[in-house]
Amino acid sequence: MSSMIEIYRASAQRKQRGLLAYIALIAVLVYVAATTTFDGYVTNILMQAVTYSVAVMGLTVVLGLCGQINLAQAAFFGLGAYAVGLGTVDYGLSYWICMGLGLIVVLGFGAFLGTSTIRLGGHYLAMVTISFQQILTLVMINWIPVTHGPDGVSRILKPTLFNTPQSYLAFCVVVLAVVGYLVWQLPSTKLGRAMRAVRDNELAAGVTGIDIQRTKVTAFAICALLGGLGGGLFAGGFSYVSPDQFSFAESIVFLTMVLLGGVASPIGAVIGTGLLILIPEWLRFLKSIPGLYLAIYGLAVILIVLFMPDGIWGFVVQRFKSLRGALRLSAELPELTLVQTQSHADDVLVVDNLAKHFGGLKAVDDISFIVKRGSVHALIGPNGSGKTTTLNVLSGLYTPTAGAVKLDGQDITHFAPHERTASGLGRTFQNIRLFRSMTALENVIIGVERPGNPVDHAPIALEGRARAALNFVGLGDRADELVTSFSYGHQRLIEIARALAGNPTLLLLDEPAAGLNSTEKMELRDLLKRIAAKGLTILIIDHDMTLVSEVAEHITVLNFGRRIADGDPVSVLNHPDVVTAYLGSDANAAH
Ligand code: ADP
Ligand code: MG
Repeated sequence: MSSMIEIYRASAQRKQRGLLAYIALIAVLVYVAATTTFDGYVTNILMQAVTYSVAVMGLTVVLGLCGQINLAQAAFFGLGAYAVGLGTVDYGLSYWICMGLGLIVVLGFGAFLGTSTIRLGGHYLAMVTISFQQILTLVMINWIPVTHGPDGVSRILKPTLFNTPQSYLAFCVVVLAVVGYLVWQLPSTKLGRAMRAVRDNELAAGVTGIDIQRTKVTAFAICALLGGLGGGLFAGGFSYVSPDQFSFAESIVFLTMVLLGGVASPIGAVIGTGLLILIPEWLRFLKSIPGLYLAIYGLAVILIVLFMPDGIWGFVVQRFKSLRGALRLSAELPELTLVQTQSHADDVLVVDNLAKHFGGLKAVDDISFIVKRGSVHALIGPNGSGKTTTLNVLSGLYTPTAGAVKLDGQDITHFAPHERTASGLGRTFQNIRLFRSMTALENVIIGVERPGNPVDHAPIALEGRARAALNFVGLGDRADELVTSFSYGHQRLIEIARALAGNPTLLLLDEPAAGLNSTEKMELRDLLKRIAAKGLTILIIDHDMTLVSEVAEHITVLNFGRRIADGDPVSVLNHPDVVTAYLGSDANAAH
């Protein structure tokens, strides 16, 4: 056993060694690029591969990390290229100024396109990006006075600092190396985790406090930015740009490159780009028979994607993962602390005449109740009585038909899910919603990162708290395993740890015992008691009377969307309406 700090230091050292090795590798590549005089043909291929790779890494971010489609990467690439081309040739500006302006323009277009369309979701985003791509191509071809039209722009200057093909190629390699490093690091940053969370489970991402729209727009803008950067480098490298280099077909090529190499990693981007540039060169001898060339090229791509659905790099990683085995760290972890924001109000949650109707169905019909600070409050009722719907209205997944919700004195009725979470709401789901591509630790770190969580947000503190939360639910030694390798019951515990790690003012638990076997149910009951002992306010939903009567101090009973009883367990459970409701539903269940 070692301390959290030692473990953290060891992993930081490992990262540092990795970075040094990477820098050494890049230094060698730069040295080769700067000192070797390749013939023009090879230089061109290398130049194309390096500049395209930068743009393809944009797709690694938007598609690989965030799960959003962008079918206009060639348009962003073209914007960057034309900025450098027109700026240096027609306006006599320096390369660097043109590149800077180009990046600003591209970022602006990316953010605008993202902001105005991402709300619409998948297919619409694809359509809008295609339209943007087509419009830009039309502008490049037809706005002749500015763009030179189909002739394109020639005699584009390289920066004076890197005036030879070799030195410019070396410069591009350095840019690619830096971009590659940043994209490589991105998944383990707060922003990158948010992107992955949005891709894995959008609903859960919102409820854990992630601003979904902002995350998607950021991913889209980063993608556009890298497209523009690649384009700017490309223009300097080839001294000539024309509209056909940035057509929709090229956007598809970019997309194929990222899918072919592997969308999950910048290494995949480089592999896919290199391969898709080289395959046509290898097949050059077939060019005299155009149909055959295209058929073989297409077949090669289809075969690779078919047999390696995660791309070439994904395939390689999969092979080596089985050899490496899961990393296991054991540390002496501090006891999980639950910090409560200072507030004097005794009522944590006030639900006032809340209603949610689905068409004619009154799933929740005018219910009111109050959850007192530090109490365990149960919301029970037969199946279909409106419990989950109530919880979904409370956490902002549904907008209420009528009524109001106050959390800690603040009216949150019209808040988005992530805003409620920032105000102190935590929840788990009846059907577990974890981020499935991540480890248990990463899932819980997202919980710690809840906006408004009054704890230290430094990386080591984040990780320490997340490990402590997993330890608290009994899974401390399996923190670094993927969540998919856990049993159903343990996944539920990870979800609880994720919510606890965020220090919620109020924890909503939706049927935590659902799907658990009897041993797991006992463990869960103990866990709930330990959480309650820490003074956390809990609203728990269940239809299991035994569990509820053991842990809850106050019970509200729903039936057919209406509140039929509210009070302490003994009086509520003996209430004649409650007895009838439960006997009735038991009788139905028996049939
Ligand atoms: P419980 O969690 O108490 O078992 P729910 O809140 O899930 O019950 O469901 C209450 C009622 O609302 C049920 O009749 C259910 O079919 C209906 N319902 C729930 N969600 C929706 C929805 N999104 N659209 C239409 N009806 C719904
Ligand atoms: Mg339910």
